[in-house]
Amino acid sequence: MNVYDSERMIEALGGAGYEETSTPDDADMILLNTCHIREKAAEKVYSELGRFKHLKAQNPDLKIGVAGCVAQAEGQEIMRRQPLVDLVVGPQSYHRLPQMEAKTRDGQKAIDTDFPEEDKFDHLKDRPKARRAPAAFLTVQEGCDKFCAFCVVPYTRGAEVSRPGDKILTEARDLVERGVREITLLGQNVNAYHGVAPQGGEWSLSDLIWALNDVDGLERIRFTTSHPNDMTDDLIAAHGECEKLMPYLHLPVQSGSDKILKRMNRSHTAESYLKVIERIRAARPDILISGDFIVGFPEETDQDFEDTMELIRQVNYGQAFSFKYSTRPGTPAAERDQLPEDLKSERLYRLQALIAEQQQAIQDSMVGRDVSVLIEKAGRFEGQMVGKSEYLHAVHVLDQTIPVGEIVKVRITESNRNSLTGILAN
Ligand code: SAH
Ligand code: SF4
Repeated sequence: MNVYDSERMIEALGGAGYEETSTPDDADMILLNTCHIREKAAEKVYSELGRFKHLKAQNPDLKIGVAGCVAQAEGQEIMRRQPLVDLVVGPQSYHRLPQMEAKTRDGQKAIDTDFPEEDKFDHLKDRPKARRAPAAFLTVQEGCDKFCAFCVVPYTRGAEVSRPGDKILTEARDLVERGVREITLLGQNVNAYHGVAPQGGEWSLSDLIWALNDVDGLERIRFTTSHPNDMTDDLIAAHGECEKLMPYLHLPVQSGSDKILKRMNRSHTAESYLKVIERIRAARPDILISGDFIVGFPEETDQDFEDTMELIRQVNYGQAFSFKYSTRPGTPAAERDQLPEDLKSERLYRLQALIAEQQQAIQDSMVGRDVSVLIEKAGRFEGQMVGKSEYLHAVHVLDQTIPVGEIVKVRITESNRNSLTGILAN
């Protein structure tokens, strides 16, 4: 979502005469778009900011801003800790960047961490009609009402809000006009999507996906990130029936222990999660499953961790993100007794080894198969183009003549460490 938000910020500042630069040295303004989900990400902001000190010394007119969830969570504190910061803007206020920028030009500091009434997306319409890469993100939902005991999202991104269906369709058609063939619908809880339908009433995520399925020129639809409890029957069915919906599902579980899931306030069990996976696989047998895991949550015993490992064995993941539990200020679990760091590291190491094994085996099983690849760019080596398969594997195609944006059938000939190689299939 920060990638999407950064694009919107660039567009918002475009109106004030700014354009993107490739290095900080060329910049009149540096905006750090930040993540607050774990402590490491948040702390990185301050070390990054420190690195801009010499640039500000060289160019006193340089403006430095912090955007995103660290801005939202820490607000004024950022300017206290790092006085060279001119501007602090939360994720719901970045449409106000032009006014904020003007304020900094007058030598004032600008800070906005409101949750404004107006729809920020409405203020971002005047985007330049520039050509886009073939795969794009599109935010359809933001925020979360679930309050998992470890998570800052409900505090930094706010309450769960869904964008109206017609606005999403308009944005999708605009993306397609500019060369986009694949759209990933984004939301912190995207499968809880319930936006106003164009003809009145309400759309669920599957309604939205079906509407996008009818957009000519759009070839692929994905969505992320989902909560297991919001995998409704209609959405599961869409995985079996909707032609443009790709066979890939990111469905975080966090833990395989019911005791820990309860303490996390996840409101699902290991069994209910496995049941959802079973039903999705019944609808779409070749679907690649991805997940998120937290190890070392307070009170996690060896047995709880083994339960997580067992769940992983049962699911067989094609991809996953896994993290050591990180205490986040203001969340309930931060107040509990914490596990030692080395125990967390050891568990993370074991879990990641198991996932890596599954991931590699699934990737290796693609050899000899034909997959469809959306070509994204020239490969690192001459004579190759690179793109993504329907399962989101990176695929190097041994042909340099295929245009970017084309979807081609590729016979996989080789499985490497993090990618596949193949030739055009006739
Ligand atoms: N809405 C999604 C998750 C969004 S947050 C869901 O309900 O599953 C993205 C991921 O960051 C989470 O799935 C979790 O694995 C990780 N995460 C969030 N808070 C964390 C914390 N305090 N420590 C470690 N990992 C965390
Ligand atoms: Fe965070 Fe996801 Fe839980 Fe919401 S459902 S609080 S985003 S982990």
